[in-house]
Amino acid sequence: MSARCRVVIIGAGYAGVMAANRLAGSRKSYKSISVTVLNPVADFVERIRLHEVAAGNRVSATVPMRSLLHERAELVEGTAWRIDPEHHKVHLSGGGAALDYDVLLYAVGSTQASSRIPAGAYGLRDSADANRLRARLSELDPAATVSVIGAGLTGIEVSAEIAERYPQLRVRLISRGAIAESLSGPGRHAVVKRLSALGVELVENTEVQRCDDSSIQTSGGDTPRSDCTIWTAGFSAPGLARDSGLPTDALGRLVVDESLCCPQHPDIFGAGDAVRAAPSVAGHLRMSCASALPLGAHAADSIIARLENRAPAPLSAGYMLRCISLGRKSGLVQTVHADDRPRSFVIRGRLAGVAKAQICDMTLAWIRGELRRNGSYSWPKGPRPAAAR
Ligand SMILES: Cc1cc2nc3c(=O)[nH]c(=O)nc-3n(C[C@H](O)[C@H](O)[C@H](O)COP(=O)(O)OP(=O)(O)OC[C@H]3O[C@@H](n4cnc5c(N)ncnc54)[C@H](O)[C@@H]3O)c2cc1C
Repeated sequence: MSARCRVVIIGAGYAGVMAANRLAGSRKSYKSISVTVLNPVADFVERIRLHEVAAGNRVSATVPMRSLLHERAELVEGTAWRIDPEHHKVHLSGGGAALDYDVLLYAVGSTQASSRIPAGAYGLRDSADANRLRARLSELDPAATVSVIGAGLTGIEVSAEIAERYPQLRVRLISRGAIAESLSGPGRHAVVKRLSALGVELVENTEVQRCDDSSIQTSGGDTPRSDCTIWTAGFSAPGLARDSGLPTDALGRLVVDESLCCPQHPDIFGAGDAVRAAPSVAGHLRMSCASALPLGAHAADSIIARLENRAPAPLSAGYMLRCISLGRKSGLVQTVHADDRPRSFVIRGRLAGVAKAQICDMTLAWIRGELRRNGSYSWPKGPRPAAAR
């Protein structure tokens, strides 16, 4: 190991930047850690705002990375192609010089595999997807039909955003099961009421099997018209960990233990959408910004503990709220237990829309807060282990 421990973080999203700031600002880092963050571009992408960009309600969801990243963290623009755990190297696409690491943090987020988005449909993975979709929506005839496939939280937010921005379009939200089934009764009712008020046609218990530029084909054999089909289902992890021979789950997520360390490769940690942490501490966590920030911070704490020869603590992260935008003028705040099970209390309407907008602003405030005052970010604890209840 060199004099300074070289920590390389792959991916500068919510998890990666939170971890970088916590590491770079730690007392340990002055003397003994160098932090390098590898990301394809020098901008931070606020993925939680991509539906706003797609609908044309926002010009861009990018923020200059240097305005969020600690000054002691070096930013390298590039894409990791392979991780070589044996020689502690990250090889870059395009053949640039490999990055040497002593400790690696894997934080590459989630994506929709191109093979899982039918040809002719639009995904919503990144800024490029959002811009493509915005261009398509703006050129549609007034009487055109937009189909949103997948009625998870993203599908609900996308369809509401488009229906509010383009009231003349016919917007259809298609769900394999019931719409908003993960919410409480009052929460579900509020979502259905708002979507219906916006004119969104709700199609439940239907799978879409194929689509082209002008229609979709459903499991029932129907082929209704669809001038723009948006695929919001099927998020998984990028293939980097799997292609590098690291242990992954069926979604391609790096498998890590309770402290977010990869047991087979103790110098590799993981955080955010791209990892599957031990079910004992993370079985209730879903891919979300609400999980990525705590996981990023906890991974940084685990790395520091390791460097100080302390045993890293197990992750404890849970939820309090699920905040959903329903266009720019309304929303839903669903209260939840730490393990994400819905409680009955909800806030709806304009007040909830304002709360959701503030939570989105807070995500960057938390990242910047960690930059200014090390260790300032804290998060709701996870559910108590079954044995302790
Ligand atoms: C439209 C939409 C709305 C959403 N709304 C919400 C919401 O309201 N609340 C919520 O909690 N969550 C929401 N999410 C989910 C949330 O955005 C993700 O869960 C979150 O971004 C995950 O954070 P992350 O840091 O793990 O990954 P990301 O934010 O995706 O960051 C990963 C980074 O790694 C980079 N990267 C990837 N591969 C490589 C590579 N090979 N080499 C180098 N860098 C690489 C990427 O370019 C990216 O910068 C939403 C998602 C979408 C698409």
